[in-house]
Amino acid sequence: ASVLEKEGAAEEGKDGTLRPYVGAKMFEQLPISDRTMRGLKDAKYTHMTAIQRAALPHALCGRDVLGAAKTGSGKTLAFLIPVVEKLFRLRWSNMDGVGALIISPTRELAVQIFDELKKVGKNHSLSGGLLIGGRKDVEAEKDRVNNLNILVCSPGRLLQHMDETPNFDCSQLQVLILDEADRILDMGFAGTLNAILAQIPKQRQTLLFSATQTRSVQDLARLSLKDPEYLAVHSES
Ligand code: ADP
Ligand code: MG
Repeated sequence: ASVLEKEGAAEEGKDGTLRPYVGAKMFEQLPISDRTMRGLKDAKYTHMTAIQRAALPHALCGRDVLGAAKTGSGKTLAFLIPVVEKLFRLRWSNMDGVGALIISPTRELAVQIFDELKKVGKNHSLSGGLLIGGRKDVEAEKDRVNNLNILVCSPGRLLQHMDETPNFDCSQLQVLILDEADRILDMGFAGTLNAILAQIPKQRQTLLFSATQTRSVQDLARLSLKDPEYLAVHSES
């Protein structure tokens, strides 16, 4: 069984909107669009993992979340579904530019996130891109980044575009995801993250996920989250 530790808001949410979804075990019990549900079904995702059960009701209601759960517990879908749903509900289109940033510590993890995004988002008309440095030419990327709605990025490459790419515009950003925040900080990206945070809208939804809740993760949470739900899953069910 999973042990959920909850601090902050009362179980049913500040305004009661959460109540029908608390205790949901399957994705189809949540307020998720048909388009996303079909993507999940095709990928054989039916039952939520513990961190997904804990985080999705809050995140889908638009709240900020600080989620801690060990590697392999399914954190990716816990943030990708809210990202896609938020932009879908806002009728986001290619014309609207960058709506979501997902920051990941390593290229390999970013590629994994992008692969999951393709499954969840395949029936949506949202565009996505990977900004992870490496082989890809940054100059070639510069022409494309503005036309993409969901960017999965490594911190360094994202900041490079913010600093160097003319017209790279995150002013309409709706959602920020900080994935594996503990690792991002361990790798020495605190300064890079602060510079990124300074350049994006304050008015947004932020979901921060981490395998561990360290002091530096708490400091980052204080900087980046607003009135978050703290969700820690100690053992997977
Ligand atoms: P984490 O980010 O917590 O390390 P991932 O999001 O990478 O975990 O998920 C770990 C594995 O579990 C992946 O292979 C993923 O496809 C699978 N997975 C995630 N959620 C579900 C689910 N609800 N049902 C079945 N498999 C899932
Ligand atoms: Mg992960």
